[in-house]
Amino acid sequence: MKLWAGLLALCLVLTGCSGHAEEKQRRSFFAMDTYMTMTACGPEAEAGLKSAEARIRQIESELSVTDPGSEVYRVNHGSGTDIPVGKDMEETLGTALALAEETGGALDPTLYPVVEAWGFTRERQQVPADETLRETMARTGWERLRLSEGTLHRPEGMEIDLGAVGKGYAGREAGRVLRAHGVTSAILSLGGNIEAVGARPDGTPWRVGIRAPDAEGHAGMLSVRDAAVVTSGSYERYFTDDSGKRWHHILDPASGYPAENGLLSVTVVGPDGLLCDGLSTALFVMGRDKAEAFWRAHGGFEMILIGEGRHITVTEGLAERFTVLPEYTAEKAEVLRR
Ligand code: ADP
Ligand code: MG
Repeated sequence: MKLWAGLLALCLVLTGCSGHAEEKQRRSFFAMDTYMTMTACGPEAEAGLKSAEARIRQIESELSVTDPGSEVYRVNHGSGTDIPVGKDMEETLGTALALAEETGGALDPTLYPVVEAWGFTRERQQVPADETLRETMARTGWERLRLSEGTLHRPEGMEIDLGAVGKGYAGREAGRVLRAHGVTSAILSLGGNIEAVGARPDGTPWRVGIRAPDAEGHAGMLSVRDAAVVTSGSYERYFTDDSGKRWHHILDPASGYPAENGLLSVTVVGPDGLLCDGLSTALFVMGRDKAEAFWRAHGGFEMILIGEGRHITVTEGLAERFTVLPEYTAEKAEVLRR
């Protein structure tokens, strides 16, 4: 069995406070089960980054599923069904539930018992026995949660997992903290989830590498300013069973098995990292056709789909901002229009 737990930053970010080298600050640390690197430019950079890291650690301490001191752990392991929850949980779970509804349940924040049955939270993974899958699936179902005015109604036996939205939320919040400090130029990589604050100091956009889901290196480069860039991919966390079959960590809530629909990665670009993170997971589960239909119907974000055969689709808002690397594929990205 093999697990690649994504300890490396998943996206390359070309950084540089050109011309202001003395004011460039970088902070790298391990949090939320991944390696994070934040770079900020300008006189407020150092203080801003320190506060941003503190905010990320605070979010981690509340949303972790495995830390016995976290709010999510308290909800999952406590007794009683009507539980008061704090602001971070209310915001993330509220968004996850809204997305669950909009995506027909492709995102389901109650999937944790099934995620655990696969062992994705532990050292060892395995394909669960049918009986285990049945038993754990019976304890899921986002429709059975109620969240209103700071109180969560959670039927006994159900467990919450905000792993599909937590890092995007952390990026959004860290970006907010930096802006509140007066930072106008920063790039944050939270295990491959990118949050771009402003543009580079010379006014040109930040350049973000989009990982090749089926090879080393990158599939393309994206130019962004003031945006989150969040990718969900089957390459991020997986194991190989005894027969050599690969099983990855994004599960289709309809079956309890890893989503398999020909998509290898989905990158969502938009103003709200929390929403982008939830969407990237949901659209990955939905597959190409449903993801495209969802974008047409909802908008408010842009996306990059990479499928088998290295087939790349970008929504029209990214057409001028995304370049496919010729070493990845000679084909141009297909542009999806409304
Ligand atoms: P990553 O955490 O690697 O960036 P995602 O944001 O796509 O990737 O989140 C995947 C994580 O979310 C899984 O590790 C699991 O804990 C949880 N998860 C898996 N499938 C789903 C799903 N369909 N809905 C909600 N959460 C999921
Ligand atoms: Mg996600």
